[in-house]
Amino acid sequence: MSSSKEQTSISQVMCFLHEWDQGNKTVRSRMLSDFLAKNTGKTCPELEFEFAEVASLFLTRLTAWIRLTYMFGSCLDLQLRALGVFLSANSSHQYMIEFLEVGGVLTLLEILGQDKLKEEDKTEALHLLQIIANSGQKYKELICESYGVKAVAECLAKSEMEMTQGTAAALLESLAHGNPKYQNQVYKGLVALLACTLPRAQQLVLQILRIVQPVIKTAHHSIVEPLLNLLRSQHLEVQYEAIELIAELMQLEVRPALLRGLVAFLKPAKERNPKHKILDDTEVSKMTDSLPVLLMQAASAKTIRILAQRNEEISKELLSLRVIHHLLYAMGNQEHADAQRQASLALEHFVRMYPVVEEHVRRGMGSTLFESFMHNADELHLSMDDIQADSLRSNKVNISCAVKDWFSAMSRLRSAVQKGKTAALENPEVLESSIKKKSKHAVKEEEPSETEPSSYHFFHDPSEISLFRSHLLLWYDQNKRELPWRTMALTEPDVNIRTYAVWVSEIMLQQTQVATVIGYYNRWMKRWATVEKLAAATLEEVNQMWAGLGYYSRGRRLHEGAQKVVSELNGQMPKTTAGLLKQLPGVGRYTAGAIGSIALGQVTGAVDGNVIRVLCRVRAIGADSSSPTVTDALWKIADTLVDRERPGDFNQAMMELGARVCTPKSPLCNQCPIQSHCHAFRKVSIKQEIDSKRLLSKLASNLNNSVPDIENCLASDSCNLCLSEDWDPQLGVQNYPRKPVKKAPRAEQTLTCIVERKRDGEEMEYLLTQRPSKGLLAGMWELPSMLLEADVSESKYKGLICDMMQKLLETSLDTHSVQFVGEVVHIFSHIHQTYIVFSVRVSDWSDRKREQKTCWLSKSALHEAAVSTGVKKIMKLYESSSKVDIKEKKRKPSPEKRSNKIKKPKSAATNGGPKQLSLTKFLSTSKATA
Ligand code: SF4
Ligand code: ZN
Repeated sequence: MSSSKEQTSISQVMCFLHEWDQGNKTVRSRMLSDFLAKNTGKTCPELEFEFAEVASLFLTRLTAWIRLTYMFGSCLDLQLRALGVFLSANSSHQYMIEFLEVGGVLTLLEILGQDKLKEEDKTEALHLLQIIANSGQKYKELICESYGVKAVAECLAKSEMEMTQGTAAALLESLAHGNPKYQNQVYKGLVALLACTLPRAQQLVLQILRIVQPVIKTAHHSIVEPLLNLLRSQHLEVQYEAIELIAELMQLEVRPALLRGLVAFLKPAKERNPKHKILDDTEVSKMTDSLPVLLMQAASAKTIRILAQRNEEISKELLSLRVIHHLLYAMGNQEHADAQRQASLALEHFVRMYPVVEEHVRRGMGSTLFESFMHNADELHLSMDDIQADSLRSNKVNISCAVKDWFSAMSRLRSAVQKGKTAALENPEVLESSIKKKSKHAVKEEEPSETEPSSYHFFHDPSEISLFRSHLLLWYDQNKRELPWRTMALTEPDVNIRTYAVWVSEIMLQQTQVATVIGYYNRWMKRWATVEKLAAATLEEVNQMWAGLGYYSRGRRLHEGAQKVVSELNGQMPKTTAGLLKQLPGVGRYTAGAIGSIALGQVTGAVDGNVIRVLCRVRAIGADSSSPTVTDALWKIADTLVDRERPGDFNQAMMELGARVCTPKSPLCNQCPIQSHCHAFRKVSIKQEIDSKRLLSKLASNLNNSVPDIENCLASDSCNLCLSEDWDPQLGVQNYPRKPVKKAPRAEQTLTCIVERKRDGEEMEYLLTQRPSKGLLAGMWELPSMLLEADVSESKYKGLICDMMQKLLETSLDTHSVQFVGEVVHIFSHIHQTYIVFSVRVSDWSDRKREQKTCWLSKSALHEAAVSTGVKKIMKLYESSSKVDIKEKKRKPSPEKRSNKIKKPKSAATNGGPKQLSLTKFLSTSKATA
């Protein structure tokens, strides 16, 4: 900057500072607004340039003013945002250090504690603290040393605004990471926060604790009581997070205390109250004085069932804590139906798992009640009378010793069977006799019913289902792609047009990628915006529009369907999923489900390839994904999960997730919104944990390549949904789904001839024939072709072409006039088609009408016509080989060179391109024939 410019700039800054110093609140507000408008987003050098290298002079004034006035809140938002400009322009930390030196962190923390200040200002202060924390470990330490954890935690506990809560939670999470000196302080702060009263804050704290707990690696005993107390929450999200955190803590030293607490809550003492108090909040103690113990009883039973289902070791520990007696007691609690129901479901798990429990429960309940219980544990409480309830409450079942004996007997039996198996390698009779010796109960345990797939592969828990939906839909709302058919589905008010538009998109999307479909879809809808318009089009036009999209029968079926809707349904698209399935050609179960849910809001699942993959992973379904059992299971799961309010969005979200996150080859589990519901992910995590030896001591006996029982289907030996092969550790979540071995495509050869004619004054024309109205490429136009039988020798090809011309044009040709052009390979989904291409020019033809329709098209018309990609490839080959011919002729190579070239054939491209090897073969064969 020249010195005169410098002078001007300095005097402007001096004026600015003078105005600030002299100005009242109104003047300063205006100056701050101007400052923000001009400088937001600027870097440190840019600010220095703007303020003639003395920007700090303004920062100092700003800091001083905020310290003096923050308690009154005057223009606090502007001041904080202006500070944000300085702190964000932080490449050298220069402004930050200046701000911190004058006690900036304390000022921000004090703002958080002011009850009278606006939530928005607190959010902004939290935001500035986050910028400071993001600057590195020593900055995090400074915040913690200033009692920042307590201040932020209090702010989170008291705030009623989601934005403030979320920002405070994010700050606590970042303070726990990369801050070894104070991470325990943050952890304890979070534990104390568990007793806050706002459900949203409770949920956030639980979520952060689930993230922070693996960093801390140990669990403090102070977590047990407040965590268990959260189970009584009526908010399913809170209860879900609490159960998941409890499940994660099962690996740590607090496990016995948590299990004891859960069992004890099944039989609550009326005066049970939590003893802790946090944050000196009188509201908290008021709340805890009136604990809804019955909710707690139900939630404890539910948690016990979930933990026991996930881990057999935990089941055993619970049994030794007299869980059966306590569950029976809770089942008799007629004051609270949900407690009865949850206890009944948990008890059912133990009864079905352990024959020894079954015996005692049968005795404890009496056989009539027991039969009803085994018939429908879920609804037993609805039919229970007072006497039965009373007898359950006063049950004396104590099977901890019997269970212990039974487990050791089972373990002896297992090792005996194992030894028997080894011996059987030499003497099969030993194995047979050892198997016969197994008790009836042991056999029952190892042979679960084959007809009922294990509940492990399904969703049962309403709270998990509701969370699955909300996690997925939230992700979808934030990440969905804007696609023309989605916009139509959302904005088109006419249900008939909307259904038609979604139908077209779904048919186009079958077998074709979204990116390819968009252009075709837009052109289609522009031309045929309604079902009536499509019905009025010709098949020719439809094929022409479809050309290049592949699987041509789809376009034909759309056209047929449109004509049916107009002629038979009075122009009205079906209004239900069943109607779509029944009345539209080419609409299967998936397409009907997709159209029904997206366009008509019908509550139905939709299982396509992407959804199969996601569901197989989420529920660890590893059997052949095309088998009827798996298909039925997947539809059942999809119908259970689909959101009742937003079925179309839910189904699209599942498909979008499969296409973008849970992809076949590189699933992005770390970005997956339903990770916490995914069995495949959990299996992989457990495996990794074992590999990193964290579970080594506990699971030493399971250390092989299989996943331990913690997360396995209990009926895996006979289950027809489980992996039929061994878990492959290299594949991770990609162990699912297991696909059937694909049949190799059928190889076919088709003889094709490009027939040219030249009439006086006309362009060159090419003969086309129409394919039959059924089968592959039905009704499409193609070059005259015939499918070759396997045993036809190459020497007969030209003769066959002459015969074909005789039939089509009634012209006799000499085989010498037929020229070999090359070969084109085109792969359909199930056919590997090789077109063997010849050409011939005719000077004589008959236009008489024949059974097979024919037409002549000029080159330009042929390019426009509705012909398949195969025909286009053949014409491309022909055009390129004609050019080569002309060039070759111009070059006039020596005969030796030509023969050398023939001797060194190139291999053909997979899709198109002349196959030189075959050409050589053909020429030698035809020469020999001639
Ligand atoms: Fe797929 Fe991974 Fe998500 Fe499971 S966690 S659904 S495997 S992306
Ligand atoms: Zn299974």
